[in-house]
Amino acid sequence: MRIGPYEVEIFSDGTFKLDGGSMFGVVPKVLWERHKPADEQNRVEMDMNCLLIRDADHVIVVETGAGPKLTDRQRLIFGIDKPPALLDQLARRGVRPEDVTLVVNTHLHFDHAGGNTFLHDGEPVATFPRASYVFQKVEWEDAMRPNERTRASYLAADFAPLEAAGKLELVEDSVELLPGLRVDRLQGHTRGTQTVRVSHGTETLFFSSDFMPDRHHLPLPWIPAFDLFPLETLEAKRLVIRRAIDERWTVGFTHDLPRFGRIDEHEGKARFIESD
Ligand SMILES: [Zn+2]
Repeated sequence: MRIGPYEVEIFSDGTFKLDGGSMFGVVPKVLWERHKPADEQNRVEMDMNCLLIRDADHVIVVETGAGPKLTDRQRLIFGIDKPPALLDQLARRGVRPEDVTLVVNTHLHFDHAGGNTFLHDGEPVATFPRASYVFQKVEWEDAMRPNERTRASYLAADFAPLEAAGKLELVEDSVELLPGLRVDRLQGHTRGTQTVRVSHGTETLFFSSDFMPDRHHLPLPWIPAFDLFPLETLEAKRLVIRRAIDERWTVGFTHDLPRFGRIDEHEGKARFIESD
């Protein structure tokens, strides 16, 4: 879709699976499994969505999926049975890795930053050789020094090599990266998670990040157990969902089907309506 000078597309790098209980936090399984059926290991399947944002001078990729570096064991655990689609999806749209000018990760978990790098002679190197990579400074700090709770989600090969290559663009809080294209830090899922907004006039496109990973997380208390600051996720959702309804934002989610839509209110509840 077009927002001012930008053409914005959403596509999936592929699907992966996480424990359904972890995805829905305090919500009982009898409620969430009506929306997301679990497999025999209690996992639910989700897409790993990316955005391609282009104007005359810039090619921006938001999120890079799980990437090509996972081990067979990691692929088995996360139910990833297909190769990552990121580079094929870009090629289909006429974009080569060297065309990309900016990469934005909403946060540095492996399912968002895995395609940032690939192994060349056994060493991880930047997938997009001309791009700067934009993350929140505190996300970088937390990812580089994970603790016992966060360690499983951060794989250093996805982001650490970018520093030596001089490709880091660390930002703080809310920043306009290009006219009408902004990132906003939203502490909740992690300390340094950021959302992405593209605006022109009264039009806004919003990409959620994992503080609201899909349409099933629109009810305020439906918050993943993964979130490090769940009460801040709650308050952020209250504000963002209200604005998205009132200002008729176009919304894309990180872990829903790769579709844009709008949020409206139906019988007092927020509801996602996919665009045609
Ligand atoms: Zn995620």
